[in-house]
Amino acid sequence: MNVKLETSLKCPFCGEEEMVLMPTDKCIRRYVCRNCKVVLEPKDKDCCVFCSYAKDKCPSMQEESDSGDSKLHL
Ligand SMILES: [Zn+2]
Repeated sequence: MNVKLETSLKCPFCGEEEMVLMPTDKCIRRYVCRNCKVVLEPKDKDCCVFCSYAKDKCPSMQEESDSGDSKLHL
């Protein structure tokens, strides 16, 4: 399994993109944009700010979608 730990987090308010290392042991539910200082919080149903705003899902969601893929079998 290939879990990406570094992702590009994009602020929905100012468009600032930042490379962020995602921790595997916890969810980040608050993230302060380095540019406009707005506090990002996960949208509905998302477990962390990465799932809501980053290019990649957080490590735990990546693992989940990996096992989901094998069930779907296109
Ligand atoms: Zn921002």
